[in-house]
Amino acid sequence: MKYFLTGGAGFVGSHLSEHLLSLGHSVTVLDDLSTGAISNITHLKGRRDFQYVIDTVANKALLAEMVDAADIVFHLAAAVGVKLIVESPVRTIETNVKLTELVLEVANKKNRPVFVASTSEVYGKSAAIPFREDGDLVMGATSKGRWSYACSKALDEFLAIAYWKERGLPVVVARLFNTVGPRQTGRYGMVVPTLVRQALAGEPMTVYGDGTQRRCFTHVKDSVRAQAALMQCPAAVGQVFNIGSQNEISIMGLAERIKELAGSSSPIKLVPYSEAYEEGFEDMARRVPDLTRVHAAIGYEPKYTLDDIIRDVISYERGLSAAQPAAEASRA
Ligand code: UDP
Repeated sequence: MKYFLTGGAGFVGSHLSEHLLSLGHSVTVLDDLSTGAISNITHLKGRRDFQYVIDTVANKALLAEMVDAADIVFHLAAAVGVKLIVESPVRTIETNVKLTELVLEVANKKNRPVFVASTSEVYGKSAAIPFREDGDLVMGATSKGRWSYACSKALDEFLAIAYWKERGLPVVVARLFNTVGPRQTGRYGMVVPTLVRQALAGEPMTVYGDGTQRRCFTHVKDSVRAQAALMQCPAAVGQVFNIGSQNEISIMGLAERIKELAGSSSPIKLVPYSEAYEEGFEDMARRVPDLTRVHAAIGYEPKYTLDDIIRDVISYERGLSAAQPAAEASRA
């Protein structure tokens, strides 16, 4: 099969590319490198079954050509990371809403199945743990930047489902829960690469709030396996799926585990949310996916433990800092 990935040079996209190639498919990537990086796909360059174009998804003529040449479309290009979202809300909303609109419009014209990457953020402040795909989404006020991300992604989901119901376009929506692994950058605030870098550099490890907020972390390799399998599952069409793990840990617990596995002597420092993000920032106390639906569709179960994830990120970050002068590494 020929796969076309928007955002294919990103953290998730580069792992999905690798996975699809390992299954014998060919992969073409479109990425503007806004949050992705060419270094994520350097090792794939030169393969005959892998191609990439550096341009924006907003280039409609190019998008149409690339969708036309493919059998299946993965739309992963999006504004990611809570920090980026709080700092650049216009870009977040525009990227997430406009690009998805375009991809769906073009895919519908060419009748190509589309995978739309969404996020566990859409559950917002829901307290109905574990989150079920058909549960209510609970958003905060529009004055709080964080919720623009959740709303923009929820709109993407509505649009994708509407294309399926009204126009018959085969779509699959997946809500990715805290997905982690090598190549994820800490630049947009994601907690695991940030804490690992701090631990390796012997710097204070920044735990936001009081550190009692809990998350379930998923290895990106588990996540991309599920993403690819869903696009091969006829029963998945028109549905929304959670993809994640149910292994919960507090952020303080996470920092302690990272510190231990990195053999670090860094202090763990509590940072108020107002300092880390913005005044009045609202965090989620817990976020756990219900995995019944994805398990029923494709037999999905995460294989990697939290320790596997942390070890993989530590060895990736060690490799990075060995390959780069210290000043560059801290900017990357
Ligand atoms: N966090 C933290 N220190 C950091 C970055 C993030 O304590 O340096 C916290 C963040 O406030 C949240 C959790 O870690 O409670 C997960 O953050 P991330 O941005 O990775 O994902 P989120 O779950 O917020 O989408």
